[in-house]
Amino acid sequence: MSKVIVVGGGASGMMSAIAAADAGNEVILLESNEKLGKKIYITGKGRCNFTNASDIEDVFEAVVSNKKFMYSAFYTFTNSDVLDFFEKAGMPYKIERGNRAFPVSDHSSDVIKTLEKSMKSKGVKVFLHTFVSEILTEDYFENEKSKYIRKIIGVRLKNGDVLNCDNVILANGGNSYQTTGSDGNGYKLAKKLGLKVTDIRPALVPLVTKEGYIPFLQGLSLKNVSISIFNGNKKLYEDFGEMLFTHFGISGPIVLSASSYISKYLPGELKAYIDLKPALSAEQLDKRLLREFDENQNKQIKSIIPHILPNKMSSVFLDLAGIDENTVINSITRQQRENMVNVMKHFPMTIIDTRGFKEAIVTQGGVGIKEINPSTMETKKVKGLYVVGELLDLDALTGGFNLQIAWSTGYLAGSSIID
Ligand SMILES: Cc1cc2nc3c(=O)[nH]c(=O)nc-3n(C[C@H](O)[C@H](O)[C@H](O)COP(=O)(O)OP(=O)(O)OC[C@H]3O[C@@H](n4cnc5c(N)ncnc54)[C@H](O)[C@@H]3O)c2cc1C
Repeated sequence: MSKVIVVGGGASGMMSAIAAADAGNEVILLESNEKLGKKIYITGKGRCNFTNASDIEDVFEAVVSNKKFMYSAFYTFTNSDVLDFFEKAGMPYKIERGNRAFPVSDHSSDVIKTLEKSMKSKGVKVFLHTFVSEILTEDYFENEKSKYIRKIIGVRLKNGDVLNCDNVILANGGNSYQTTGSDGNGYKLAKKLGLKVTDIRPALVPLVTKEGYIPFLQGLSLKNVSISIFNGNKKLYEDFGEMLFTHFGISGPIVLSASSYISKYLPGELKAYIDLKPALSAEQLDKRLLREFDENQNKQIKSIIPHILPNKMSSVFLDLAGIDENTVINSITRQQRENMVNVMKHFPMTIIDTRGFKEAIVTQGGVGIKEINPSTMETKKVKGLYVVGELLDLDALTGGFNLQIAWSTGYLAGSSIID
């Protein structure tokens, strides 16, 4: 029986602890907060979209960084395994739009309670208010060919106490929503152990735009639009769906997804265009406008805007098209009409930054995957040291996939500790 210390009582830490205890180890979980699963509590707007019931191929597709690394982890503890785990542990679930899985109760607290109950039943000892400040190792030479340089001997707590163990699972989380406890300290622990940590940046995060007209659209939500984002002439991203204007820029599903692919270029200046009418070609739109113009020749242009666009866009839209809103329709020039079509197909914005870690759903970057054996989650340099969850250089789109990464990597690490 091996002695295992899990650092962090979030999703990946609790699942690691359960799997390590199941594998017959003596497991202690240390959490700096006053309670477990503070981040789980706020997931899915308090409902916790705890996994996604799509085919496993689609789960891989949803991983943004280092999907191949997830092969063993996802196949060892699949999304179906996660659904079974929670159901068998007494938490019924339901599947919603986009195969998103939620507890039937709609309470994220049920996910936390289920994990707590499971840890208790398997004899995991949990200590709250316990911050781990150092991972202790000693030189290790198993034989001349040994790949390890050091091995785990224990952890030091903030109060100076030392706890001995044979294995440590680092499950400190990333750097976003720091009030939940994941404040980036895991990267420091990892670096001190000689592990490479890639640059970290906010992902699944709202975006800041430059133009003064965007805040006028605050609160406006657009459905069935498409967005294209460019770095110079290079198209970085294109997506179709729903988005939202805010007082600082843009947010909503397609913007959050876009952020995961463009965050590395920010801060900077990326041109973005919204196609407000993706189902219609420019020619079709022009015909549509001509029809409207014909039927309303003596009216002011502003009176027909609600026929084609959300009224809230009216003045911004007409400004961009270079038309005074009081212009009578029969005096609108061909050029002005073309401008209208152009703005509808390419509503322009400049993205200059993200809203940062405090509004980011996940952290992109982290402990480099080259440091980790993907079939066990053990580090290659330090024997007995495992790294799991968001602390790793892994992130995925919304839909329950980030928690699936936490469950799968946690389970794989815990179940790999067999002495
Ligand atoms: C607002 C929001 C909504 C989200 N919604 C969803 C969703 O619906 N579905 C989904 O799949 N994903 C969602 N996510 C992402 C998901 O919550 C995370 O990817 C996931 O929780 C990461 O799990 P983790 O165990 O790696 O880290 P965390 O859950 O962050 O856990 C890390 C834990 O370690 C503790 N800790 C850190 N350092 C120490 C230390 N030195 N000593 C002791 N303890 C320490 C922290 O206090 C924390 O409790 C959401 C994220 C946010 C911010």
